[in-house]
Parts: sequence; structure tokens; C-alpha cells
Amino acid sequence: MRVTGRTALFAILGDPVEHSLSPAMQNAALRAGGIDGLYVPWQVKPAGLPIAFESLREMENFGGANVTLPHKEQAVSLVDDLSPEAAWMGAVNTVVPQKGRLLGANTDGQGFLRSLVEEGGYLPKGQRALILGAGGAARAVAWSLAGAGIAELLILNRTVARAEALTDSVVRGAGVRASASAPGDPRVAPELAGCTLVVNATSVGLNPSDPLPIDPSLLRPGMLVYDLVYRPRETRLLREAKRRGCRVQDGLGMLLHQGALAFELWTGRNPPLEAMRTALIAALT
Ligand code: NAP
Repeated sequence: MRVTGRTALFAILGDPVEHSLSPAMQNAALRAGGIDGLYVPWQVKPAGLPIAFESLREMENFGGANVTLPHKEQAVSLVDDLSPEAAWMGAVNTVVPQKGRLLGANTDGQGFLRSLVEEGGYLPKGQRALILGAGGAARAVAWSLAGAGIAELLILNRTVARAEALTDSVVRGAGVRASASAPGDPRVAPELAGCTLVVNATSVGLNPSDPLPIDPSLLRPGMLVYDLVYRPRETRLLREAKRRGCRVQDGLGMLLHQGALAFELWTGRNPPLEAMRTALIAALT
């Protein structure tokens, strides 16, 4: 591509950031959309994040940014305005320049939901779902499912107090029935009856030697098992789920759609999904 004095600059701020797939995906989107822009990785330590945000504010050719681990929570206090999703999640993954101000948005939940509905063909309204994990990703998943009319959520986490805190905010904030437990709790098995969706939102599965995040004998044929992990694309959980007759979905779709929604917020254009997906798959292999 040709970089000129008019090129808009986009960035992803993280620590570490070198493994991020977003530069490949977003540069492909900018190219396919014919936008004069460049998306770069910006490695920044937490202590440097306030100055990095000040720099974004001063950059007149700033097109937009993503924020990744470990900065998503700190970014909340560094933007001028927050979208309702980012405020509820207490985390920002997308920064949008607006008339000299910085809007902090969060596209993780909506990205998950789009991939679940459009690619997984799953309609949450009136269903019961199980979420494994209670960190930032689990919060995004819970928020999106609550917004889409899920009837009941069961949240299991190694640290039960975190699952209880998430349950409380889902019940209070969205009026959805929710309960919390530990993954090994024997009372979980009957609770799982009637669950049509299991989402792994823990980081268990990132390493091939990781244990399973849930006892696989609890999985039932016909359930949709969605693993947010996308590297590897087929985790042990997804292999076990397939063997038990479940439908499975990996985390690539969420990654794609959270990026597509960010692109839409920055440019006001329809995201070139196929170019973005192709770039992601190529960057993963
Ligand atoms: P996080 O805030 O650090 O939360 C990590 C979660 O994993 C917590 O619930 C934690 O439990 C649990 N966990 C970690 N190690 C565990 C272990 N050994 N045994 C049992 N539970 C364990 O991270 P996050 O941002 O939510 O990300 C979670 C996963 O989602 C990661 O794999 C990430 O790559 C993935 N993700 C994917 C996408 C996508 O676009 N596909 C987007 C965001 C995140 P405790 O509370 O007990 O520590």
C-alpha cells in the first residue's frame, strides 16, 4: 500500500501485542474498502497507557483503535465518553474519535452474538445457557445473551466469587435469571438439563496440554458448544463435544465480528467480511 501524508492511522494497543491477528484483519479490511488507512500494533505498558491516549487525542489523522489485554479496563477512565455496552462491561475494546473526543466502545459481546446467530444459527430467546468463566470475555458473552432474551444463565468459574459477582450484575442489570457455581460442583449436572448452549469463556484450551474446562460427560447431543479460544481452532473441548453429538463453534467468528463492528464504527462503512475472514485464516496458519 502507499502511505501518504493523508493516510489515517489505526492501532491496537496491548501488552504483549505481537501475536495479535487484528493488524492482518483490519489492514485487509482497509484495502478491500479502498480506505487510505494503516493499522499498526502499538506495544504499550499499563503505566504508559494514559500518555498513549493523550497522543491519540492529539493525532489529527487518527482513524480509530482497538484495546486489548491488559488495558481494556484501564481504558474506561481514559476516554471522554462510553457506549452503554462498555459502561456495563467496565471494559473498552474499541476507541472511536468523534469531534476531538474519544468514545470508548466494546464490540466483544455484539461480535459474539453476531457469530452465534449468523454462523451458529442459534437464537438465544427463551433458552438456557451455560457460561464457563467469569472474566472479561464471559462478561461480554453474558451481556450479549441477556440482551438477546436468554431465559436463564448458569455461570461456572474456578473462582466462584467472580461467577457470583457476574451473576449479580446480570440479574440486577438485565433482569435475567442466573446462578453461579464451581465447575466441579455435583449440583451442576441436573442444572445443565435443558441447556442448549455451552460457552467456554475461560482461557483453558489455549495450550494443547490443558485439561477440559468441564466434565465432557455433561455434554448432550444437540447442544451447541462454543469455544471462544481460536488458537487452536479445534480445542480438546470441541473434539470431545463433537464425539458426543454436539454442534461446535470456535472463537474465530467472534474475533471476526468484533473487528467488523469496530471497522463499522470507525469508517461508517459495511465491513468487507470475506476479506477480513480470509486474512484471519491466513494469519492463523
Ligand atoms: P480473563 O479476564 O483473564 O479471564 C480468564 C478466565 O479463565 C477466568 O474466568 C479464569 O478463572 C479462567 N481460567 C484461567 N485459567 C484457568 C484454569 N487453569 N482453570 C480454570 N479456569 C481458568 O480473560 P478473558 O479476556 O475473559 O479471555 C478468556 C478467553 O477468551 C481467552 O482464551 C481469550 O483468548 C478468549 N477470548 C476470545 C475472544 C474472541 O474474539 N474469540 C475475545 C475475547 C477473549 P478465575 O476467575 O478463577 O481466574
